[in-house]
Amino acid sequence: MKRFEGKVAIVTASTQGIGFSIAERLGLEGASVVISSRRQKNVDEAAHKLRSKGIDVFAVVCHVSNPQQRNDLIQQTIQKYGKIDVIVSNAAANPSNDPILQTPDSVLDKLWEINVKATILLLKDAAPHLHKGSSVVIISSIAGYNLPAAMAMYGVTKTALLGLCKALADEMSPNTRVNCVAPGFVPTRFAEFITSNETLRNELAEKTMLGRLGTTEDMAAAAAFLASDDASYITGETIVVAGGMPSRL
Ligand code: NAP
Repeated sequence: MKRFEGKVAIVTASTQGIGFSIAERLGLEGASVVISSRRQKNVDEAAHKLRSKGIDVFAVVCHVSNPQQRNDLIQQTIQKYGKIDVIVSNAAANPSNDPILQTPDSVLDKLWEINVKATILLLKDAAPHLHKGSSVVIISSIAGYNLPAAMAMYGVTKTALLGLCKALADEMSPNTRVNCVAPGFVPTRFAEFITSNETLRNELAEKTMLGRLGTTEDMAAAAAFLASDDASYITGETIVVAGGMPSRL
């Protein structure tokens, strides 16, 4: 299936994990993909891996809370390809496992900056270039529905993204669709503090209906669907990709 032939897709935080798999999936389906993350070395390595699979890749360093780098990401994409069809906003931080009321002020700011505000500001920069039929996918989390005590404030920022998705879908309609993917637990570096513990990993797998944790490819499949014209009548929605882990009715 080549749903993204001739399309240009920006994926933030895409040098490993879920973002990398989304870039790979969109690229294998024909998109020119613009990958980015904070470190040049990671960006270069990921670009090399994707190119070795025949994917057209443009690689830019972008720490999502750096205004200049966010702007460069958009402007350099326009200079290179002349358009943007898809934006996947995937970056997040989870710097603390403190209870909410004991989370330091600076950490509250960082969570808001990276997990919520950066998506808003990136889309603000991109909006003038988003034409009819374009699509945005925001990566939230199952933790936005069930807020685990050990990552409650992170979960709150992911709940905020569910609201942001709804509100932006309205604001950016009818030209741009905005949807959200809420991943369950996926063993990546980000989730290592949980998934590297075998007991915890098994407990989490048992909480799913499908008896396993997610893969980055599971998340990429949902993001690609929402970004594609297959979802052309879907906007303001969130797909929970969590193996049936409790989220909502
Ligand atoms: P990951 O495997 O650790 O990958 C993180 C990626 O983000 C790397 O490419 C990293 O590269 C980049 N990155 C980190 N901070 C960044 C920043 N401030 N600006 C730009 N790039 C940044 O993480 P992941 O598990 O795939 O997580 C991706 C998204 O999925 C996040 O939004 C997370 O909340 C969500 N999610 C994950 C899970 C899970 O279980 N893994 C569950 C639910 C939701 P550099 O180090 O080079 O910057």
